[in-house]
Amino acid sequence: MSHDLNGAGHDVAGVHPIQPVMQTGDRSRNERFRIKGDLSDLTSYPTFPFRPPTVAQELEPERPELGRPGDEGPATCEFCTADDSRFLWTDTHWRLRLHSPSSLPGTVMLHSRDHWESLSEMPAELASEFGILCARIESAILSLGTVARVHLYRSGDGHAHFHTWFFARPLGRQQFRGTFLSTWAQVLQPWPDDEVRAAGEAVARALAGDQGTR
Ligand SMILES: [Zn+2]
Repeated sequence: MSHDLNGAGHDVAGVHPIQPVMQTGDRSRNERFRIKGDLSDLTSYPTFPFRPPTVAQELEPERPELGRPGDEGPATCEFCTADDSRFLWTDTHWRLRLHSPSSLPGTVMLHSRDHWESLSEMPAELASEFGILCARIESAILSLGTVARVHLYRSGDGHAHFHTWFFARPLGRQQFRGTFLSTWAQVLQPWPDDEVRAAGEAVARALAGDQGTR
């Protein structure tokens, strides 16, 4: 497999990300977004983290997209400039980072080594590697023996440098199933640092079993 994945001369995974022009104040579009009068479908769900009464926030009007850390490019990006020692595991194109402090031990984040903003921007070879690596990370987290499912999550809203969350849903914790796991992660108290670190190191050891560097 080629390690020359700088994008030049390679097929990209999809189309380049489209940058739409924001035209705020479109009344008909704004009216499409309204808070439901009855939230009980949501709040009665057994995995919903909060007790009633639950009140939705007032909707803010449209406004131009906010800037993100890393938008200025690799030279000032905290992840591009980070040393490998900050990561649990690395290889040629990817680096795995511990989520700490954490209430869900085994939770990690995968970063591209280079400054890609999205899967659609990456060369096809790199996007293909991502899929295979996701499977390896899932297996590594499940090998802890304390995790029932691995939830993948990516938004791209918080930082411009490509990264994906792997949330470790604890074995037997039915209340944490599904959509709200990342919310539960913030409702629950963090575990002791040494236990979170030990879980992350175990994930890295399992991942390093076939390739990469711890
Ligand atoms: Zn970067």
